[in-house]
Amino acid sequence: MILLIILFPASIAAAQPAQIGRISLGLNAGLTRLVLEADRPLAASLSNAPGGLELELRLENAVLALGAPQILAAGVIERLDSPASGGSLRLTLLDTAVVDRAFLLPPQGEQRHRLVIDLLPADPAAFVSAFASPVVLPLTLVPVAPAATRQAKGDNRKLIVLDPGHGGHDPGAISASGRYEKALTLGVAQALAKKLRATGRYRVVLTRERDVAVKLLDRVEFARKREADLFLSIHADSLAADRATRGASVYTRAEDATDREAEALALRENRADQLADGGNEAELDDVVAILLDLASRDTARLSRRFAGLLTSALAEQKLPLRRNGLRAANFRVLGAPDIPSALLELGYLSNPAEEAVLFSETGRNQLAEAVAEAIDRFFGAASTP
Ligand SMILES: [Zn+2]
Repeated sequence: MILLIILFPASIAAAQPAQIGRISLGLNAGLTRLVLEADRPLAASLSNAPGGLELELRLENAVLALGAPQILAAGVIERLDSPASGGSLRLTLLDTAVVDRAFLLPPQGEQRHRLVIDLLPADPAAFVSAFASPVVLPLTLVPVAPAATRQAKGDNRKLIVLDPGHGGHDPGAISASGRYEKALTLGVAQALAKKLRATGRYRVVLTRERDVAVKLLDRVEFARKREADLFLSIHADSLAADRATRGASVYTRAEDATDREAEALALRENRADQLADGGNEAELDDVVAILLDLASRDTARLSRRFAGLLTSALAEQKLPLRRNGLRAANFRVLGAPDIPSALLELGYLSNPAEEAVLFSETGRNQLAEAVAEAIDRFFGAASTP
């Protein structure tokens, strides 16, 4: 991999300059993402420019095939423009920052080769030392943190990200007696976090600890930024037309839903974003979608494996499961290409008996017990398959 990075600029050096036809900026979870799109893979370096809060992005054998200088603003980037001579771009920053990730994406659909650069706000000292010598881009060829980075952080325990669905002005499903899905999901996630932390085997973080709205892709980025080992989104369903339906289901992500009910559920859950606060994530959404296509088969396989272990553990706890309790649909929140992810629908708030159980301490603990068991099995901490 490292050899390839070094060879990249050399291998295109003799060729015609790459034509950069599109530049976009996106924002998510505190990261500012700059994407340069060209007809061939780009190589570049980023270094301090004399202006203090300015960086020069020097492109290797590439020219801008764009008309006017690009002036954009987002996140830590105040403006981005191109000096008269092609081959470099000037980034004027609002705040000191460092390069968090920088990677190449191959052509996908209408999009061509992309160089993706993520900037993360940092203190002035970190900024100065980060760019003391030019930062060669891309940093990696694939947008996945190498194992070495994880080890360097000192705590090798698996990191579990629990994602309590909905929050803030998005209540999620509403029960027969008027209780909210957002409260149930947070309560179950907190009980589960407590149980997992008590084993001493895991680090556990929640995408929200309070009653606040969080966008779906921010939940995904939250887990990716922390290099989570497992992502579990927790929800509950409601079926106004049929108060008798009950039981849990476990979902993984697939472009094509396994059935119409799963497809309709994913549409409902994906709608949460329309209720969350506004913000410009269109660009990023696009990039995340492409990243998803790059997902290793391994991640998909591991997600299905975890989902299978979870349905078994729920059944063993004598918790009610839907028939076909293991399904797939296109849930945006399961969009991390490099983290095994599943979505647990705890049950039906439209069923008064199930609502009572789900909101009880006993019910919550039983669910937490089952999920913790499945996590133990997934990471090999328990002997039973
Ligand atoms: Zn939900």
